[in-house]
Amino acid sequence: MNSVHPLLSIKNLEIDYPSRDGHGRVTAVKGLNLALGQGEIGCLLGSSGCGKSTVLRAICGFEPIKTGEIQLRDIVVSSQSTHIPPNQRRVGMVFQDFALFPHLNVLENIAFGLQHLPNNQRTSLAMEWLQRVSLTDKADAYPHELSGGQQQRVALARAMAPEPDLILLDEPFSSLDIELRERLASEMRDILKANNITALLVTHDQYEAFAIADKIGVMTEGKVIQWDAPYELYHKPASRYVADFIGRGIFIKGIVQPNNKIMIEIGELEIDKDHAKDIGKEIDVLLRADDIQHDDRSPMQAEVVRKIFRGADFLYTLKLASGIEIFAYVPSHHDHAVGEKIGIQLVADHVVTFDP
Ligand code: ADP
Ligand code: MG
Repeated sequence: MNSVHPLLSIKNLEIDYPSRDGHGRVTAVKGLNLALGQGEIGCLLGSSGCGKSTVLRAICGFEPIKTGEIQLRDIVVSSQSTHIPPNQRRVGMVFQDFALFPHLNVLENIAFGLQHLPNNQRTSLAMEWLQRVSLTDKADAYPHELSGGQQQRVALARAMAPEPDLILLDEPFSSLDIELRERLASEMRDILKANNITALLVTHDQYEAFAIADKIGVMTEGKVIQWDAPYELYHKPASRYVADFIGRGIFIKGIVQPNNKIMIEIGELEIDKDHAKDIGKEIDVLLRADDIQHDDRSPMQAEVVRKIFRGADFLYTLKLASGIEIFAYVPSHHDHAVGEKIGIQLVADHVVTFDP
């Protein structure tokens, strides 16, 4: 990967809109930074209204920016004083609703962006992309004859056929069935990786983000507050917001012990950073559902207050003696009733802590 010049680099991006009352402006993106290398898949993850789509539109060139800079390879495409038009950016976009042309068949949809090529080349290149998304047998079909997942692959092939430097995808799975999403996300990842395509997608669904992205940026209020690999986000959240947003967990009080240990209600844990100066102090510990293991023989008991069946496992909400509620994933053949007390055990090795 070329780390000298990231393929996409965004610095201090700020974008605002006219406010609804017509007086003044409201900021939608404020001080956003990120960098994406050639061949990497990035994902902006955040709840509705945090500015994700605005960022994508700005990268495409559909949204003027107020301050900061968007750079593609080594060219500044957007700044206070520069605005390269969308058709000169070599950026492809896949919209939330796929936006296929209903009156064109699959092959014609894919060939649409290849008007600069002679006819025979257009067709053969479009056929090649059809093959790459495993839809050769659907060349003559019309969009309404395809399933949601197939339509999405056509939209992806149409965006990739002109060989843009970067593909942007706005909530590409949100109109599909929930069971399909994770599978399609990893299928899309395979297609992008096989063709060494750089992509940035946005979603509000962390499991989708985990399934597809090399790097995830957690967004809130127009900013990326942590830009990291999924593993790092989960295990080393840099802030309480990220810790709370990613995964299923709670904060529990602990007392710092010598040797970077911490005592919580149900046992002793190791802390991930040096806390020598805090011995005896109270601190908040992030306890995730996967840090707790159910063990019928364990003397440590907790009461089942809620349970959600997830197929292979249950997500149990368990009440400790103090009244605090924690989460635990438990294999689904351990089907305990609400109200029942079950044995638990701490299995976390290094936990994340925050000052109270
Ligand atoms: P997301 O994609 O994360 O849901 P958006 O980028 O669509 O967020 O919107 C970010 C903020 O900007 C929201 O508060 C939204 O209401 C506002 N906004 C988006 N587009 C416009 C627009 N064209 N005019 C005014 N406000 C807008
Ligand atoms: Mg959006």
